[in-house]
Amino acid sequence: MALHTQPALVLFSGGQDSATCLAWALKTFARVETLGFDYGQRHRVELEVRHDFRAALLHTMPEARTRLGEDHLVDLSMLKALGETAMTAERTIEMAENGLPTTFVPGRNLMFFTAAAALAYRRTIRHLVGGMCETDYSGYPDCRDDTLKALQVALSLGLASPVTIHTPLMWRDKAETWAWARELGGQGLVSLMIDHTHSCYLGDRSRKWAWGYGCGTCPACQLRAKGWDTFTHDL
Ligand code: ZN
Repeated sequence: MALHTQPALVLFSGGQDSATCLAWALKTFARVETLGFDYGQRHRVELEVRHDFRAALLHTMPEARTRLGEDHLVDLSMLKALGETAMTAERTIEMAENGLPTTFVPGRNLMFFTAAAALAYRRTIRHLVGGMCETDYSGYPDCRDDTLKALQVALSLGLASPVTIHTPLMWRDKAETWAWARELGGQGLVSLMIDHTHSCYLGDRSRKWAWGYGCGTCPACQLRAKGWDTFTHDL
């Protein structure tokens, strides 16, 4: 069956990457539902901006008016209960001895997709979309293409129902992600990314830069800013 006749569920955090995936999904699938997770993240503000982004999309992308469906929010606070990280507690963001940043939340994307697949199963949705990327990323092993391909197989077997995980940003760097947003929805969508998405790990929305709101120094801000600089330099 062609994708444009089928529904999809987008893991939409309120960040730039998943927002770009949402725009792609609206151009690709017949109906698109969104799913966010509350896992005690320090940057809980992303859960608020996701509503603003969805609302603003209705004015920016014609596809959103006919295809954007329900929004779901699932509580995964157990992730915080299982052990604190710099993503969920006031801890320093730095490299740990295992070579991973202290923002790594073990099992996060595995649980995200498992919860998403369970919800999608009940809603007769086969296609899951996530903004994971291993081109320009923090080294999280659960963002890797191989991890997610293995998970797709495990979920399809475990549910006895086919699950397809789409990660359209997997091989795009941050500059290409900005460029792709412009391709998908023009300057209007780029402006939406700047104003209504949130990537900063510290949840700082008190400072605005050319690329959006954030502290400007955490790894997420640095990646976003670097991508923006390359993108605007290439214009
Ligand atoms: Zn930041």
